[in-house]
Amino acid sequence: MKILVQKFGGTSVATLECMKQVREKVQDGLKRGSKVVAVLSARSGDTNKLLALADEWSPAPDKAECDVLVSTGEQVSISLFTMLLKDAGIRARSLLGGQIPVTTDDDFGRARILAIDSKTLRNYLDQYDVLVVAGFQGCTQDGRITTLGRGGSDTSAVALAASLDSAECEIYTDVDGVYTTDPNICSTARKMDRVAYEEMLEMASMGAKVLHIRSVEFAKKYKVPVRVRSTFSDDPGTLVTQEDSSMEAVLVSGIAYDKDQARVTLRDLPDVPGMAAAVFGPLSEKGVLVDMIVQNTSQDGHTDMTFTISRKDLPQTLELMTEVARKTGASEVLHDVSVAKVSAIGVGMRNHSGVAARAFAALTQEGINILMISTSEIKITILIQEKYVELAVRILHDTFGLDWDIGC
Ligand code: ADP
Ligand code: ASP
Ligand code: MG
Repeated sequence: MKILVQKFGGTSVATLECMKQVREKVQDGLKRGSKVVAVLSARSGDTNKLLALADEWSPAPDKAECDVLVSTGEQVSISLFTMLLKDAGIRARSLLGGQIPVTTDDDFGRARILAIDSKTLRNYLDQYDVLVVAGFQGCTQDGRITTLGRGGSDTSAVALAASLDSAECEIYTDVDGVYTTDPNICSTARKMDRVAYEEMLEMASMGAKVLHIRSVEFAKKYKVPVRVRSTFSDDPGTLVTQEDSSMEAVLVSGIAYDKDQARVTLRDLPDVPGMAAAVFGPLSEKGVLVDMIVQNTSQDGHTDMTFTISRKDLPQTLELMTEVARKTGASEVLHDVSVAKVSAIGVGMRNHSGVAARAFAALTQEGINILMISTSEIKITILIQEKYVELAVRILHDTFGLDWDIGC
């Protein structure tokens, strides 16, 4: 039995008219001779409304109950869409994460998938041509509802594709594919035909929300080819796949940005062994993800430690760091929420030098001050003031020739 997994995001299922277009994509999948597993997100805006409701009800909404609430967005979209399929005479049924089940750990709000019972799905596919599955959700081993983190329906789809040996996982969204940068902020962004898993991982983790980062991790691990394409066009989209030598010829493949950044500094920490552990231990215990870290050179036996986190974690981080400062003798805790990061990404960087210098020179020419820098083998990330982020994306896009056919 050939099985195709297709995922449709929030804007694709927002209205009745949009859902009719989604139905055409599913019918097209059936015409290609496959059974279809259609993974749906909540309708655009619904998840935000549900989260706002939780905040209205409680100053610190219980995480497990928040998942029960927020997962209903997908329940609405799968039921409505299955009605449309049945009205067109298609043998279909809807399935919630817990009905499959998609088993996860109990890290409510950002649970990780542990297992998917593909046997149940295959049995259902004997009776139905299309299964409409709620993305973004699963359940713990003892049956509690969980969600996978914002944008998590992509991960549901790729995990289902891996467990069902789907030849390809199609991710339908509101853009034609993966672009060299966000096409909504850079008019010269160019759609890529192919992108390597590694590059896509860096782009997703650096803020390109077109794919949820864990979906790319799954795709890479289980070698699932992922095709990102639009619900509203016939463009073949972008294939996210294994790296090949032609990809390495391109120095920089994409520019990503992330405005969800806050910078925290501890001033005058004693420069003695154990200080980094004293700062980052409490953060990791509370599940706060730290992104960039810089420690200044020591002066008079003291140093400054600066790091970045997601803005939602700032209140908790400041509380923890005030306590760390009290224990270690650091003189003050500073913070800044008007920062953002911009990254240039490309597997070609492995074999070429000079990318960082070109990026710094281009930003300097426009008077953009660089606050922090971090690098990996295939990426350079720069922290700047948030007000310059769109400008910086366009400058870097232009500097590395990404609007041309071959990057330079
Ligand atoms: P969906 O609701 O379908 O999951 P998302 O809003 O999560 O869609 O992701 C699609 C959006 O990702 C696009 O509308 C675009 O603004 C944004 N995006 C950011 N970076 C990129 C990129 N490099 N290529 C394509 N889209 C990008
Ligand atoms: N509905 C969820 C969200 O808005 C999951 C998703 O769309 O992928 O984040
Ligand atoms: Mg998304």
